[in-house]
Amino acid sequence: MKIFNTLSQRKEEFTPLTPGIIKMYVCGPTVYNLIHIGNARPMIVFDTFRRFMEHKGYEVDFVSNFTDVDDKIINAANDKGIPSSELSENFIKECKKDMEAMNVRPATVHPKATEEIQGMVSMIDTLIKKGYAYDTKDGTVYYRTRKFKGYGKLSHKNIDDLESGHGRDLKVTGNEDKEDYLDFVLWKPKKEGEPAWESPWCAGRPGWHIECSVMAKRYLGDTIDIHAGGEDLIFPHHENEIAQSEAANEKPFARYWMHNGFLNIDHVKMSKSAGNFFTVRDIAEKFDLMVLRFFMLSGHYRSPLNFSAEMMEQAKAGLERIRGCVSNLAFLYGKAERDSMDSEEEEASKGLKAFEEKFDSVMEDDLNTADAITAIFDMVKFINNETKGKLPSKAALKAFKDSLTGLTNILGLRLDERSDYLDSEKAEIEALIERRQEARKNKDFAAADAIRSQLLERGIILEDTRAGVKWKRAE
Ligand code: AMP
Ligand code: ZN
Repeated sequence: MKIFNTLSQRKEEFTPLTPGIIKMYVCGPTVYNLIHIGNARPMIVFDTFRRFMEHKGYEVDFVSNFTDVDDKIINAANDKGIPSSELSENFIKECKKDMEAMNVRPATVHPKATEEIQGMVSMIDTLIKKGYAYDTKDGTVYYRTRKFKGYGKLSHKNIDDLESGHGRDLKVTGNEDKEDYLDFVLWKPKKEGEPAWESPWCAGRPGWHIECSVMAKRYLGDTIDIHAGGEDLIFPHHENEIAQSEAANEKPFARYWMHNGFLNIDHVKMSKSAGNFFTVRDIAEKFDLMVLRFFMLSGHYRSPLNFSAEMMEQAKAGLERIRGCVSNLAFLYGKAERDSMDSEEEEASKGLKAFEEKFDSVMEDDLNTADAITAIFDMVKFINNETKGKLPSKAALKAFKDSLTGLTNILGLRLDERSDYLDSEKAEIEALIERRQEARKNKDFAAADAIRSQLLERGIILEDTRAGVKWKRAE
């Protein structure tokens, strides 16, 4: 398997540290909203990587975190007047539903930052003892960036060219105790209305970068095989993770770094802060989410991918072609009379190998899912040809189906259509609306309001109209 390693900037032959086992960490979402389809890209891409490596016989220890303490979460929770833990728990639940609907398997472990604070305090303490971090008058702890000799090795930046204020947590203004503008926050003091934990420096909360260093160490060890995430995380997030982990553990942190390109709209990065995004739920209203998965895999994971209705329609047609082939095989199987293959069919079923090998070889070349889909289409064409105007034996039809679904399974493409995920959500929302109407009828306005805010937390807005209660998703 060849992987493009951001660290070396080239494709490298992949070998895990322990034969047969891959230790992999993928930065997960900050949960203050429903996930958007930009967040879905690393989920789908690295889930596909995991499935492919398992198909190759590896055991994959796959860890992906939820960042459940962050300014954005605190602000969103304060706006809604609920504790930030309630808000993040809610969106973790919703995120898991979206993952399931996109056929993204749960990680081996999904640690939450707020449940790992002890480990963070302990790593920060180690960094201070080793001289890589310092605390200041107000209790803020900073990482002494220039002390770490390898700083910049992942993003290929020269430390002297770096600007301050680049990204979350590197930007700290107004603290004169900071030794150097490049130093980033490891621990920060509590402000009014914020969740906080005790620490030797002050009651406060961790910076974002330390979370991942600690969770990777706890669940995978000091040196991991693969660290992955979107390319926006290379700097400063992943650069800072390396600085923290390698200074604290005195071991190389991650051996291979994989980064997915952006999902864009009109060639501009899709992001929550820019407001140009679609949530996975928005897309699920219009498409089966396997179409979204197929669309994501139709490009190379490192290339930018432009989202458009037209591309989604193309993805839908592509997926339909595969589904059509499989359902035709099932139909023919029901009618087939012979059990065993004749010699021509045996030859044809051997012919499937060529497509399987092609699929494998392009996937082994830095996960080229775009070419893997082409191999699947070629197989579909071949099978359609072998079944046109003939009724093959059950054995041959089974061989065709097994070979084709073997490949679609590796890409995590479910071929049965499922819409129950949104249907059950809609039923749930409607049941809550009915309970609210009931409460209003009984003049229990507190209960009615509670239901309205419960729905609002899920991003569902109610409108009382003359025609009854309508609901929509928040923008
Ligand atoms: P965040 O919630 O912003 O921390 O992002 C969670 C994950 O989604 C990270 O790996 C990001 O790099 C990734 N991500 C966010 N936006 C996009 C996008 N538009 N395209 C691709 N990946 C993204
Ligand atoms: Zn991270």
